[in-house]
Amino acid sequence: MKFVCTRDKDEEVISIEAVVKGISKTGGLYVPTGFPKVDLDEIIMMNSYKEVAKRIISLFFDELSEEDVELCIENSYGRRFKDSEVAPLEILDGFSVMELFHGPTLAFKDMALTFMPHLMKISMEKMGVDKKVLILTATSGDTGKAALEGFKDVENIEIIVFYPENGVSDIQKLQMKTQEGKNVKVVGINGNFDDAQTGVKEVFNDKEFNEFCLGEGYVLSSANSINIGRLIPQIIYYFNAYRLLVTKGVIERNEEVNFSVPTGNFGNILAGYYTKLLGLPINKLICASNENNVLYDFFSEGKYDKNRELKLTSSPSMDILISSNLERLLFEITYRDDEVVNKLMSDLKNKGVYSITDEMKVGLESFASYYSTESEVKKAIKKCFDENKYVIDTHTASAYDAFIKNQKEDDHYTIVLSTASPFKFSKDVLGALTGEDMNGVDAFKANARLSEEYDLFIPSELVELGEKDILHNNTIEKDEIMSFCKSYVEGNDND
Ligand SMILES: *Cc1c(COP(=O)(O)O)cnc(C)c1O
Repeated sequence: MKFVCTRDKDEEVISIEAVVKGISKTGGLYVPTGFPKVDLDEIIMMNSYKEVAKRIISLFFDELSEEDVELCIENSYGRRFKDSEVAPLEILDGFSVMELFHGPTLAFKDMALTFMPHLMKISMEKMGVDKKVLILTATSGDTGKAALEGFKDVENIEIIVFYPENGVSDIQKLQMKTQEGKNVKVVGINGNFDDAQTGVKEVFNDKEFNEFCLGEGYVLSSANSINIGRLIPQIIYYFNAYRLLVTKGVIERNEEVNFSVPTGNFGNILAGYYTKLLGLPINKLICASNENNVLYDFFSEGKYDKNRELKLTSSPSMDILISSNLERLLFEITYRDDEVVNKLMSDLKNKGVYSITDEMKVGLESFASYYSTESEVKKAIKKCFDENKYVIDTHTASAYDAFIKNQKEDDHYTIVLSTASPFKFSKDVLGALTGEDMNGVDAFKANARLSEEYDLFIPSELVELGEKDILHNNTIEKDEIMSFCKSYVEGNDND
């Protein structure tokens, strides 16, 4: 399997190269050259998440030996997840919830970011990279912590994470500021997530800076979901959920299902789309947004318009106006026309808006799209608990709300993807459940109450978090990302 660039189809790379590079020099993203059909019978016969993982990873990363693949899988899904099923299903009345939050940072980013560091290390060795890799990552909260955990103390890799100072939850911020590891840096930005992401992209695209880094012994790479090393591991759990549901007799073999996905940067749901292209019987991928409903407008009108104010909501990991991975979808719905993709992406950059043609809209048939207001998010948390005795977080709530809305016209069996533990957002969750105003309440106290009143275990990581030392206290302006990176690279000896 090879990978091509969305902005220049002639640029073809092998998988390990795509992982090391992260993003193409053209600014384009790497996508697989094709999607061979996966044998569903074979998947359904499998006995574990790890087995499914091996099948999917080997399909895309054929430069890796069987042992390499097994090692990466063992180091991630074998060790770092508290639930042996890795992504267990909660089968409720008429639908299921797939829990993607049993990794070390309690959010779905762990599904890929426990895996990717090992993949990157092996890819670097195989590519004969004699430099250190510097990972630059912009985060809306969860990616940062998951990337820090995944990459900490991995040899020859260093990582800097940029997060919006006022755009992440208290717990998320504390998780990052207490991060241990010799090779990690955490930096707050006076700006929002898009400022952080734009700043980091500028650094990647700056030729001069890239050359400067080479001179200092570094190559740049990314842990954002623009890296295919992030995207491919996310295909695994779509297949695995289907396997579990067929095995448990909840759905028929070959029955078409819906997946409802809390969406931000469009990585998770794009992996779902790829899964459909690989042959999993998916009816609709339900794209769930919060009040930042750029994607909803895109799916309903065919016009992507980021010229609006970013709203800070109770689901910060979805507070995004530029969904980077949508570029990969555009590539597919134009039948891989790199010229059109270039045009749309330059419109987005220069005008903040682009429109797709009616022909392209046909390609969006696999998707349904909804968004939830803040008050709908609260109501969804309450409704889900009242009807199922099951507590969901603020991100999952939008996917649950979208599923309920979609159900009015579509009765396919639906799997709601749960992307974070409710304890990561316990103040908002508790507020929604009790109707109380949780403003000013300490997050740890909210955790204790959520645990007691709703009979749930507080994940041990969060109990320990309260006792950890603050190790990072950098804040910079949004236009200082480049200069920060420069002085970081200058200040490190490559020994
Ligand atoms: C990152 C994240 C999302 C959004 O996922 P994308 O792949 O960026 O669309 C949703 N929920 C949570 C909790 C997340 O961390």
